[in-house]
Amino acid sequence: VTKIGVYTSGGDAPGMNAAIRAVVRVGIAQNLEVYGIHNGYVGMMDNKIERLQLRDMANIIQRGGTVLKTGRSTEFMKPEGRVKAAQHLKAFGIDALVCIGGDGSFRGAHALWEEHQIPCVGVPGTIDNDIYGSDKTIGFDTAVNTALEAIDRIRDTAASHDRLFIIEVMGRNSGFIASHVGLAGGAEEIFAPEGNTTVDKALDRIKEAKSRGKTSSIIITAEGQKPGRAYDLAEAIRKKSGIDAKVSILGHQQRGGSPTAADRILASRMGAAAVDALLKGYCDIMIGTEGERLIQVPLDLVTKHEKKAQLDLISLANILAT
Ligand code: ATP
Repeated sequence: VTKIGVYTSGGDAPGMNAAIRAVVRVGIAQNLEVYGIHNGYVGMMDNKIERLQLRDMANIIQRGGTVLKTGRSTEFMKPEGRVKAAQHLKAFGIDALVCIGGDGSFRGAHALWEEHQIPCVGVPGTIDNDIYGSDKTIGFDTAVNTALEAIDRIRDTAASHDRLFIIEVMGRNSGFIASHVGLAGGAEEIFAPEGNTTVDKALDRIKEAKSRGKTSSIIITAEGQKPGRAYDLAEAIRKKSGIDAKVSILGHQQRGGSPTAADRILASRMGAAAVDALLKGYCDIMIGTEGERLIQVPLDLVTKHEKKAQLDLISLANILAT
């Protein structure tokens, strides 16, 4: 391996810049030429590729988003799109890749390896934490902390007015953010896509808490939970109980912002480990974590399995919020 390419793909996540920086600086320290591919697979197909130097990585470790920009492409999902991408990579002499993204991005990387023998190591970057094979993904810790800050502020106003608040956090298919934020934020109830909470169960819990003297409550809900979005939940609660719940949808602020120390450290370690793995001849794998340890997981395994949020955090939050 003498020339490597690095790109970010799919949804952006805070800490991606720290991962790019680690790939570039460790790569150069190992006498590699490092190339940045802009807008993920879109830039790979459009030849938006440039050589990166040490100084290009200055002042980015603390910045959210991704300096390489990210992208989604349906063209790349077809073999012809990947032929175009592989031709550009080969023209630059790029002989290995580091892909920072989610499981869709890894499917693309796996296809490039199978069809064009371009080795790739994946680094999991997504706020959702829903990547099989890694306990933690880059961006999750920051997103949880950002959501938590917002919830703490809402709790102040909920408590002052004796109100029920329904706060919607991100997670279309995954309840990691909801369960972590719910437990850390002292929520009375948590709706997660993996969970089995119903409007009736939530109402029972809130009424019970009220009978014990609790005057305000917070429900955390993920975008993708079964009874519907936050406003649907509020409507169902109003119909069943007459309680007028206030809704707050946190939205994209959870994606942005300066990465936490934990995310910067995780991203730096994973980026460095990805380059190291390529130099040792590994490919078609993802760098993951198992506890504090970095591990290597075949991309095929990563993309064929789903990782579900643990419901025990929700049960604990329920007990603790009494
Ligand atoms: P996130 O879940 O955070 O949004 P992701 O990496 O899963 O991240 P996707 O939009 O699913 O995001 O995938 C990113 C890009 O990877 C897609 O736009 C597409 O170009 C490519 N990709 C996804 N699935 C495949 C596939 N099966 N084969 C080839 N390329 C794929």
